[in-house]
Amino acid sequence: MIAALALTLMAASPEAAPAADAPIRCAGEHRQGAILVCRTVPGAQVTLGDLTESADGEGWIVMGYHRDAPSHAVFRVRHEGGVWERRVEVEPREYEIQRIDGLPPAMVTPPPDPAFQARLARENRTKGAAYTSRWEGHGFLEGFDWPVTGRITGVYGSQRVLNGEPRRPHYGIDIAAPTGTPVEAPAGGVVTLADPDMYWEGGLIFIDHGQGFTGVFMHLDTVDVEVGDIVQKGDVIGTVGATGRVTGAHLDWRVRWRNRQIDPEALLALDVSDLR
Ligand SMILES: [Zn+2]
Repeated sequence: MIAALALTLMAASPEAAPAADAPIRCAGEHRQGAILVCRTVPGAQVTLGDLTESADGEGWIVMGYHRDAPSHAVFRVRHEGGVWERRVEVEPREYEIQRIDGLPPAMVTPPPDPAFQARLARENRTKGAAYTSRWEGHGFLEGFDWPVTGRITGVYGSQRVLNGEPRRPHYGIDIAAPTGTPVEAPAGGVVTLADPDMYWEGGLIFIDHGQGFTGVFMHLDTVDVEVGDIVQKGDVIGTVGATGRVTGAHLDWRVRWRNRQIDPEALLALDVSDLR
């Protein structure tokens, strides 16, 4: 639109931008691993750090911060009326160090044979394709519940050292529960991946809760949904298992938005009622 050429910088700092004038309101926190659900001008382009995405036709947008998000982020809303921008402080977190020793070597480093590598590549493509989903529903507005309850045996962000080797951080929350315990959708969404036998994850389900904000459910004993199914909050999607590379029955629940891993526990505290 022509109006976009006449963009004005309405505010460049928090002091210059009383909250009442901001064209965006959010639930959530500016914190590493946090979810943000915001309401702004329909169709506005919203920038958070190095990512820019569009609000939907009702002005809703869901976003989040990665585990290692920098200490400051640009937060910008660009719409027909202009540009609003502020620099936000992102609260840092400290993460646990988790050492696990005595694992079978194949669980730490997969075997190098070509057929096996082809399998891993195929599974990575499947997951990558599922992450491109952009469901237009609003599961993320419902509030999130635990998919299963049990003892927490692993938390988001912990630095893992497996058999003495530093590995990628753990991005899920591990919830121990007996094999066969029902796993419920923590919020509504569309199933974008449902596979009973992935190498690392075993039985694996992805649910796009809206705009590609995706819940990941790993090590399932049974996968009771199919790709394309629309699930409601509380629907049973599968059962807890010990499939894939695991040492015992548990659910590993992860949340991903674009290339960022979000802390599932941050979802549980979210309250969007003030934004409606
Ligand atoms: Zn885990």
